[in-house]
Amino acid sequence: MNFSSSIANLQGVGPSYQERLKKLGISTVGDLLYFFPSKYEDFSKISPISSIFTKKRYTVRGIIEDIDLDKTPQKRISYTKITLRDDTGEIDAVFFNQPYLARSFKEGEAIFISGETQFSKEGLQFINPTYEKIDSPSLSHTGRIVPFYPQTEGVSSKWLRYIIKTTLENRNLSIKETLPQKIIEEKELYSLKEALLQIHFPKDNASLNKAHFRFSFERIFILQLLLLQKKEKIRREKGVSIDTDIEKVKELVSELPYKLTDAQKKSIWQIIKDMEKNFPMNRLLEGDVGSGKTVVAIISALVVIKAGYQVAFMAPTEVLSRQHFDEAAKLLWKFKIDVGLLTGKKDLWRSKKLKGDTVPISRLKLIEKAKEGSIEILIGTHALIQETVKFKNLALVVVDEQHRFGVEQRAKLCLKKGAKIPHLLSMTATPIPRTLALTMYGDLSLSVIDEMPKERKKIITKIITAKKRSSAYSFIKEEIKKGRQIFFICPRIEESVKEKENSPWAGLKSVEEETETLTKDIFPEFRVEMLHGRMKSTEKEKIMKSFKNKKIDILVSTSVIEVGIDIKNASVIVIEGAEMFGLAQLHQFRGRVGRGEFQSYCFLFTNSKSEKTRKRLSALLSSKNGFELAEKDLEIRGPGDFFGKRQWGLPDFTMDALKNRELVEEIRNYAKEIVVKKSLLKKDSLLQKRINVLGQKLHLE
Ligand code: ADP
Ligand code: MG
Repeated sequence: MNFSSSIANLQGVGPSYQERLKKLGISTVGDLLYFFPSKYEDFSKISPISSIFTKKRYTVRGIIEDIDLDKTPQKRISYTKITLRDDTGEIDAVFFNQPYLARSFKEGEAIFISGETQFSKEGLQFINPTYEKIDSPSLSHTGRIVPFYPQTEGVSSKWLRYIIKTTLENRNLSIKETLPQKIIEEKELYSLKEALLQIHFPKDNASLNKAHFRFSFERIFILQLLLLQKKEKIRREKGVSIDTDIEKVKELVSELPYKLTDAQKKSIWQIIKDMEKNFPMNRLLEGDVGSGKTVVAIISALVVIKAGYQVAFMAPTEVLSRQHFDEAAKLLWKFKIDVGLLTGKKDLWRSKKLKGDTVPISRLKLIEKAKEGSIEILIGTHALIQETVKFKNLALVVVDEQHRFGVEQRAKLCLKKGAKIPHLLSMTATPIPRTLALTMYGDLSLSVIDEMPKERKKIITKIITAKKRSSAYSFIKEEIKKGRQIFFICPRIEESVKEKENSPWAGLKSVEEETETLTKDIFPEFRVEMLHGRMKSTEKEKIMKSFKNKKIDILVSTSVIEVGIDIKNASVIVIEGAEMFGLAQLHQFRGRVGRGEFQSYCFLFTNSKSEKTRKRLSALLSSKNGFELAEKDLEIRGPGDFFGKRQWGLPDFTMDALKNRELVEEIRNYAKEIVVKKSLLKKDSLLQKRINVLGQKLHLE
């Protein structure tokens, strides 16, 4: 029997249990053994009942003296009460809403109870504690750390313990090591067999930690191997080798109203070098808000277009697509390049034929022009990746603020089957701590813009409590009088149906409400408008345009304006209900101001009295750099904020391990050694099988 044997081979697992286990994703012996406990109860430290005197966690062992099934007098909730006695005294344990327990317990039975005690009329009691019958097989030797498994209908922890234990003890089970022996020795890891034993039935906490470490190591190792193999694989795809006309690049750079930062230059250089190769680029450009990623993309586009190919440039919102379109059209016009905007609603075309005028164009025509190759750069929203959109000779795809875009999607944009795979430049302002970048984007090459344009002033950030609101409003009035413009961000669009008082959303401002208050009560002398995702795109565009043209003083919005909006005249951003946002997101909002010459401010409005919230928000006051903040978010909130736990299916202990940068880098290096040598990764090797399974699960692309 080995890991791929069906669980049907196990004694005690009949058809009905097979069915129930299937719901937990368990069909093989390997699945079963890798189904880890979600928590443990320490039954090893037992208190004499007489020593229980306060509200605390205790574990006791005793004999059931009495069993009582009853209902609470007022609310009529059923409960089972048992009285437990040991040599020193007796205590009650109450289980609410579990009437069947009255039948399952037997007088005279020996049992462990573990949980918190609480005071009631009848003295100290256990309320809904965990219990364990002493004659149950898993506790053949008393007093140990006992595993509990994620709950599922019809599969109890008790049963799982029994099955897992007998399986692990089965002499016919062969457990093959997944990790290379060299790593196990160097890192002093538990062998797979020992680790499995200890994660299910830990000797003590130290052994449990050691088992967790081994499985985290294994999981991250397999993930790294997967990513590195993907990276290797794309090197074997055919890409378009681009000849750079460096003179054109110099010309465009000399036209810019500013000097590129060294980090921008370095990124452009890395991109150009990548695109010269004959396999597709797969590069992530990471840079704080306002660090100037767009111009890097536009210069890369120029290089590709001048080499005779087309570019697709995708942005997450219509407003942003429009902004990129304007910027690209402005910078590329001198080079007589045709630019198109495809958003699915109002499409535009700017062409040499029209002497650089921008005109509306029908969607069909625009798509036609992309197909025949006369539009050289097509900018747009997700509408760009619809089936109908095809390019004649696409060589570069730029994706702004979008985390994942794969080889297959790129290939779909090409007109001819078997066309070469376009290069990919993804851009993100979400700063990701290095350990996570290695994990989430381990298959991509990374360019980082880690410096801001020189003339940028530091944005002054303040936490504003209810008391200080009015002085903040006065300050804003002064700014508007000086000619500046203001952003207000609210956590939601409209006031929802009566919220429960204890919901975290209760009392939080909505865009609609706030717009009204600001217009009527606070800033009646100024022009206030709102912008949110549920408005029609034409309307949104109109508002954005008026704001750009300074016809609006205050723009109230949701997180629509989170990414990329560029208004140089805006000097204050107010964030209502700041506690509802993550640090990285707040930092993104803050990046909406301070884009021009004016000293700018970010006011975090909060009514939260929680110390933790205060602490978290204060991180924004001291650190100005998104990368630092991301490290802090990782520290305070853990990696769950950065990528969905669900999607990656990582247990908490592995999520924790991901915080450890040295460890992740070390594991990556081990993985690199193997991918380079290839020796260990025969097609049918155990490790390769695990990598493949993970690959299918993750669907990274
Ligand atoms: P992001 O990286 O957030 O996408 P943008 O590309 O929108 O930033 O750039 C923000 C603003 O900074 C734009 O108005 C752009 O013209 C300007 N900018 C870009 N690079 C520089 C630079 N090197 N010096 C000064 N301003 C710059
Ligand atoms: Mg941007």
